[in-house]
Amino acid sequence: MEKVLGVDIGGTKIRMGIIAADGTILHEEQVPTVIPLYPYLEQHVIRMLIKEPEIASIGIGTHGFVDPKEGKIIYAAETLPGWTGTPVKEWLELATGRRVEVENDANAAALAEAKFGAAKGYGRVVVLTLGTGLGGGIIWDGKLLSGGPHGGAAELGHMILHPNGVQCACGRHGCNEMYVSGTALRRRIKEAGLPYSPPELFEKAKTDSAAREVVEGFTADLAVVISSLQAAFDMDIVIIGGGVSEAADLWMDSLQRQLEPVLLNPLQIEVAQFENDAGILGAALLVLEGE
Ligand SMILES: [Zn+2]
Repeated sequence: MEKVLGVDIGGTKIRMGIIAADGTILHEEQVPTVIPLYPYLEQHVIRMLIKEPEIASIGIGTHGFVDPKEGKIIYAAETLPGWTGTPVKEWLELATGRRVEVENDANAAALAEAKFGAAKGYGRVVVLTLGTGLGGGIIWDGKLLSGGPHGGAAELGHMILHPNGVQCACGRHGCNEMYVSGTALRRRIKEAGLPYSPPELFEKAKTDSAAREVVEGFTADLAVVISSLQAAFDMDIVIIGGGVSEAADLWMDSLQRQLEPVLLNPLQIEVAQFENDAGILGAALLVLEGE
C-alpha cells in the first residue's frame, strides 16, 4: 500500500507521521521546532526517508500563510522567524526527489476531518477549530478552498463579527477569533468577574446564572459565525474542534438554541474526531489526494 509522510509544523513542535493511503498512522514522532527552520526540517524529513524508503511523497501543514500552488510560505514572521518566503516545495523536492505539497496547518487539519473524521462522506464541510485562536478550513466539493493572492482564503478567524470590538492580533477590531476561541472564552469569563477555567464554566452554567450568561454570549456569537458561513457556503456540515470542543456536550444544546433563529436552512453540527492527529493526517492527505 502507498505510504506518504505527513509533517505538521507548529510554533513549538513538529510532528511527523508515516501514513498509509487509508489513513492508518504507521509511525509517528515529534521533535521541537528549531530556528532556522528549513535546514532542520530537511534534515528530519531525510531521516524519515532513510527510515522508510517507500515513502512516495511528502505533505506539509505549517503555521502561517501559505501559497499552496507554489508551496511557498507567504507570511509566518512572529511564530516562525525566517520562515516567510521559504520555497519549501521547491527546496524539499530537490533535496528528496519526492513530490511535496504545502498547506496552512488549519486547512490541512480540516481536510483530515473531512476525509477521515467527523465529516467523512460529505462534500462541503466547514471546520472551526476553537483553540488559542479560531482556525478554520473549508472543503468545497472534496477540495480545500485555500490560497489566494495573499494566502488568506478561509482565514475564518479574521472575519469581523463586532465592528469596533476587541482589538485582534491582525491589527483590526472585532474579528471572530476575539469572541469565538478558547482565548476569547477566557477573556469573557474574566470580564464577567468569574473565577472559573473554561471547563469549569461550562459545568457551573448548569446552576450558576452568571456562568450561564457567559456561555450563552459565547454560543450566540458562535451561532452568528456559523450562520454567516452558511450564507456564503451552504455547507453540508460544520465540524467544531479545538480545546473548547472537548466540553461540547455541555454547550451544544445552548448552541443549537442560538442557531435556530439565525440559520437559513437546517445544518448538521458535529464535534471533531481528531485532536492531535489531524495535523499529520491532513498533511498526508495533501499528497494522497489527486494521485
Ligand atoms: Zn483579526
